[in-house]
Amino acid sequence: MDRTERHSVGRAVPDDDTERHDRTTAEQTDRTEQRAPHETSEARDYRAAFHVSRLAMALLDREGTVLDANDALGELLGTGTDALADQAAADLLDLASDTRTWHAYHEALDSLRARFRCTRRLKHPDGRTLWAEVAVAPVPDTDRVLLSVTDISDRRELQARLRHLQQHDPVTRLPNRTLFFERLAAALDSSARGDGPFEGGTYGSRTYATGAAAYGTGIAYGVASAAAASYSARGHDRGPGRGNGRGNGRVDGRTGRIGLCYLDLDGFKAVNDTLGHRTGDRLLAAVAGRLTECADHGGYTRSGGHLVARLGGDEFAILVEDSTGTEQLADLARSVLAALQRPFDLAGQRLSVSASIGVVERTVEGTTPTGLMQAADTTLYWAKADGKARWTLFDPERNAHRMTRQALTSALRPAVEREEFVLQYQPLVGMADGIVRGVEALVRWNHPQFGTLSPNRFIGIAEEDGSIVQLGGWVLRTACRQARRWQLDHPGAQPLFVSVNVAVRQVWDSDLVGDVAGILAETGLSPHLLQLELTESAVMGSAGRPLQALQALSDMGVRIAIDDFGTGYSNLAYLSRLPVSVLKLDGSFVRGFRYDEGVHPSPADETIVEALIQLAHRLGLTVTAECVETSGQAARLQRIGCDTGQGWLFSRPVAPERIAEMIAAVSPNGA
Ligand code: C2E
Ligand code: MG
Ligand code: MG
Repeated sequence: MDRTERHSVGRAVPDDDTERHDRTTAEQTDRTEQRAPHETSEARDYRAAFHVSRLAMALLDREGTVLDANDALGELLGTGTDALADQAAADLLDLASDTRTWHAYHEALDSLRARFRCTRRLKHPDGRTLWAEVAVAPVPDTDRVLLSVTDISDRRELQARLRHLQQHDPVTRLPNRTLFFERLAAALDSSARGDGPFEGGTYGSRTYATGAAAYGTGIAYGVASAAAASYSARGHDRGPGRGNGRGNGRVDGRTGRIGLCYLDLDGFKAVNDTLGHRTGDRLLAAVAGRLTECADHGGYTRSGGHLVARLGGDEFAILVEDSTGTEQLADLARSVLAALQRPFDLAGQRLSVSASIGVVERTVEGTTPTGLMQAADTTLYWAKADGKARWTLFDPERNAHRMTRQALTSALRPAVEREEFVLQYQPLVGMADGIVRGVEALVRWNHPQFGTLSPNRFIGIAEEDGSIVQLGGWVLRTACRQARRWQLDHPGAQPLFVSVNVAVRQVWDSDLVGDVAGILAETGLSPHLLQLELTESAVMGSAGRPLQALQALSDMGVRIAIDDFGTGYSNLAYLSRLPVSVLKLDGSFVRGFRYDEGVHPSPADETIVEALIQLAHRLGLTVTAECVETSGQAARLQRIGCDTGQGWLFSRPVAPERIAEMIAAVSPNGA
């Protein structure tokens, strides 16, 4: 390769050592040659590279004293290169401020480790803060050590920003769910260990074990500190182990307790729906501002601010680390309610909101993030159920009675075997004459601990785990037996039919036809006095076995009713082709026309119901209205031709003895 070729690629690369020195490092060459007049040309090459390198470097002796430094280091530290000579690197780079760093640094100086790295925060003479990554490595076979320093400030700032974005909610600028749970976990974890997250024995053993690990931990430390710094700007951070002088007997200010206010705005959805999401967002941001004020300077806290986070939607949390007891949390909850009570002025709109707050306060020991959040969630639910716009304190007693779905699921099967269930009966009344025609059997669970449970709490579970088949069989037999008993006890009265709810699975997974036939034979009840209620979804698209079952039952003389009609998507004409004879109109239709309570009736609903009833009649179906609660509703239902009604206006579901009394009262011979 000759000179011409080299020049042809456009790079004026000199091809002898002297020329390279002259052209590129004139200044340094002078200095290096002064210092080492006898060194080899190879050594001179390295020295030159060292001085022109843009990586800030220094050669140290085994004591850590700077023997030589390049301009990049002088520039990075803002001292100039010459001032670095004979300085202790530890002083320049703040390597002595903590013992672990100091120790690891010395191990590298003594060649006890091949490499040491750490991240330091330095003060540049021009006033700015500098994040530097320092690496120290012994030069093999010499008594020199190479130090290099990289300015990672930009990277650090970028990381901190990204992290901030990931951990904050853009609408309210509050810490988000991620950050909240991180802090909660750290609070429970560090308090449990009794030390701060960056202190204690576990840290040192891992941190500097290898260069790579040290590097990783350095970053993690820095990011955590940066995140912490972003709180403290908002008054949210109390660093680990920083005392607050509370009289709790622990000098470190740790109380070993933690508290949480879990808050949900009442009726926020309506704001969003009626005024739009922009207004909704503004309201959330304004609420966030008030919550932060409460948490920062409510006057009740001696410890400074608490973490306020938006957990999602209209849910917020205030985390009180090192709480002093329930009174502190109660004060906080009260101040939050008071702060939110003042109306909000949002771009010309005046809005009032209220909130419900679940308050939990407990010892850190034995508390997990999940446990704490579940308790807070339950308590918030109580606050809502108790009437909203209030705070409620977690009550372990009340919680013990709250049955979990799991508890119910596991208790259900044995309960079916032990027959912990009872039936109540609700009259089905002729709309034209007010005479009771039949009753619907409604099951209740007399749970030994939880008391009487309504079917809405356990039928779904029973359907899921299949125990509905056994339970449904029991209901059917009991109801038929009861209907027969009334009939036998009141021979002069018009016999009542009994209407029994049947779950889909009973049609699919059991021999419903065989069971019904057997029960009717066993009890002596006429098939005409039995009605089975199935939901639309149970009969929709039914073909094959279910349809055959319905047909067989119908052929037997048993009536089939469609329960909660109108909540599904059934086609009335289609239903009429099935062996169905009764429609039970869902309560929501009837609720649509309350006449007599100052609420305007909805003519649309009434028109729909009227058309529905007419159509049903034309298709040969009778119609029963559910949830008839007022005489106004009853009058309208009667006028538009509804056949029977069921509801509190006539009677709540009652024990069988009460039905017997009703029969006796209307029976001609009073028997
Ligand atoms: P459903 O079959 O629609 O029963 C009517 C429900 O409405 C009953 O609730 C009844 O107490 C309630 N109700 C009656 N009148 C009124 C009123 O005027 N206003 C209002 N707001 N409600 C009224 P319950 O007893 O809690 O039963 C709930 C559901 O549980 C039943 O709805 C039924 O789907 C199911 N269920 C009840 N017993 C059984 C059963 O033995 N087997 C099966 N598979 N499901 C059952
Ligand atoms: Mg029913
Ligand atoms: Mg119903």
